[in-house]
Amino acid sequence: MLNLTRQMIEIRNILLNVNGATDLRLPSIVVIGSQSSGKSSVLESIVGQEFLPKGSNMVTRRPIELTLVNDPSSASEVAEFPALKMFNMTDFQQVQKVLVDLNLAVPQDEAVSADPIQLTIKSPRVPDLSLVDLPGYIQVEAADQPTTLKSKIREVCDKYLEEPNIILAISAADVDLANSSALRSARRADPRGERTIGIITKLDLVDADTARSMLLNKKYPLRMGYVGVVTKIPKSTSIFQRKSGIQAFIAQQNAERKFFKDNKELFAGTNVGTKLLKKKLIRVLERSMSGALKPMQHQVQNELEETSYKFKVEFNDRDLTCEKYMAQTIDTLKMEIKEFSEKFGRPELKSLLRSELDQKVLDLLALRYWNKSEPFLKKNPGISDYELEEPSISELNSVKSDETFWHRKLDLATANLTKIGVGRLSTTLVTDAILTEIDVLINATELRNNDMIKHAIKEAAVSVLNQRYNSTSDQVENCIKPFKYEIEVEDREWGLSRKHSLSLLNEEMKEAKEAYDVIKKTVGGNKLKQIMTYIINENNSVGQNIERENLGFSPGLLLRGREAIFLNDRLTILNMRIKSLQSSTCKHKENKFKCPEIFLDVVAEKLTQTAILFLNVELLSDFYYSFPRELEKRLGSNLTTDEIENFAKQDPKVKRHIELQERKELLELALSKIDDVMAIQKRL
Ligand code: GDP
Repeated sequence: MLNLTRQMIEIRNILLNVNGATDLRLPSIVVIGSQSSGKSSVLESIVGQEFLPKGSNMVTRRPIELTLVNDPSSASEVAEFPALKMFNMTDFQQVQKVLVDLNLAVPQDEAVSADPIQLTIKSPRVPDLSLVDLPGYIQVEAADQPTTLKSKIREVCDKYLEEPNIILAISAADVDLANSSALRSARRADPRGERTIGIITKLDLVDADTARSMLLNKKYPLRMGYVGVVTKIPKSTSIFQRKSGIQAFIAQQNAERKFFKDNKELFAGTNVGTKLLKKKLIRVLERSMSGALKPMQHQVQNELEETSYKFKVEFNDRDLTCEKYMAQTIDTLKMEIKEFSEKFGRPELKSLLRSELDQKVLDLLALRYWNKSEPFLKKNPGISDYELEEPSISELNSVKSDETFWHRKLDLATANLTKIGVGRLSTTLVTDAILTEIDVLINATELRNNDMIKHAIKEAAVSVLNQRYNSTSDQVENCIKPFKYEIEVEDREWGLSRKHSLSLLNEEMKEAKEAYDVIKKTVGGNKLKQIMTYIINENNSVGQNIERENLGFSPGLLLRGREAIFLNDRLTILNMRIKSLQSSTCKHKENKFKCPEIFLDVVAEKLTQTAILFLNVELLSDFYYSFPRELEKRLGSNLTTDEIENFAKQDPKVKRHIELQERKELLELALSKIDDVMAIQKRL
């Protein structure tokens, strides 16, 4: 006969994964027995491996849903905990350890958890079976348990003892069946004894009559009867005692067979032996699964119709899986990067770097030229009216030797600019701008809620940029090197830079004016004038020992006053410099040392032009090419299925969409398998 049990167990396991469909259950065999009844020994002799947690204080706290798969292709027993993604385990001590850990994870005061442990064992020696080892079974009967715990344990167990499951009630032969807690519980769930198989263990410990009467039990009749086993021959009598693993079980089976053979007459007319038990379990399970299949087909059909309807109404039958969602997200990101690449190209790169260098030029000018202590400027001691003549130029014209001084000064300022580390500065600038933009991109999408993905994207960007950072920085620095020695200026360049410097200086002046006006407005024009006069007098009288009243100005006001004086000075200087740049002197590049603003602007422009060529080729274009690929690698293939699932299901709507689709697919799969099995059954 064709064994369809495995297919039905598969269907059962598929249905187990359909969320919330507790009524879609195909039967399984539920094993119950009080402590020391020999329950573990029976289960292990069916499997042929020692794998269950042992010890009197090691009470099972979670149901173990055990799927046995007969797999002729596998060399030995292989265990899997699918929910833990642990596969191909061949060390059964390790399996035992995992079970112990999973049990101990349930706090002692909770005693029991309804959340089952799923364990699959594949072997050429096991039958296709689906078994459930129930938790803390003995505790149901333990007198000293608080009633709430007892009822909780009972609740978990009762669910499994319900129809259509088959109950395997284990009782030890050396205990009166009247006291068998397994039989008592089985009777409560199955009063007519229609789906209970009685197992009597330890037949070697009782005399033949007792054993026989138990196996032919008339007092507690069960439709499927009783099976007697001897699953542990005491070691001292076993000639195979030193064997372990499967060998020990083979030895054990031989010993059991020998025992029943030796006592053949005594057990005549009874069902005994582990081998027979296995056969019986296969038969009973197959029969009851087959019986449940037709009603299940209807149930699954109904459930599928309902789910398909919801899927259509809510999601318009749009296909979505976690992987697909992730792929869509990566595509969206790639598109945004493409958009970004169109917005951030060479012109943007140029203006970014240029404005940074403009700032550096202004700082340099302030430091080296626009300084009151410099002879470049001549100050009138009045508050607001600096002389607007061009002292430097008149001075320069009159003192010949000074020419060298101003040339040197300009050379120095130029060197300052060309040697600021343009390579590093510009590469960092671009890198930072890209990373900031990536942040903006992420924060504009749903990805902002997922730290793990956010981190992965940033890491991808950083790693791509890092790979290029040093070489880009070095290349840029190398290419601007000639400017460190000589800078040739063309008339056209001079003209453009003159314009640019003027606009920069005007902008600078506007800002200083605005800042000055703000102070004036908050402090009051007259008062500000008073404070400024006071500060200037104070400064002039330093060292003259003149006592002055501070006129009651608060430290805050004095600070504002100093700021106003600074801004005022700045405005005067800027005004003067603008006039100077507008003068005919600064029209000609030959007078560059009298017009440092323009010359430094030319330098800044040359540095920028050269740097962006390399930044664009070495860094930016490469980033736009490599980043999407790196993203794909990190988010597409490097993430585990769990990580992808966590990401996708973080969005409640996506979660519902994916789960509804998963549910629909599982139901479709189950239904098609049910149809297949039923079609085969019909033909048999
Ligand atoms: P559990 O607590 O119900 O899981 O019972 P175990 O399978 O751990 O068995 C309890 C004890 O009974 C162990 O010491 C076993 O060696 C012993 N035992 C189990 N089956 C038999 C059997 O058939 N014959 C004998 N003599 N001892 C057995």
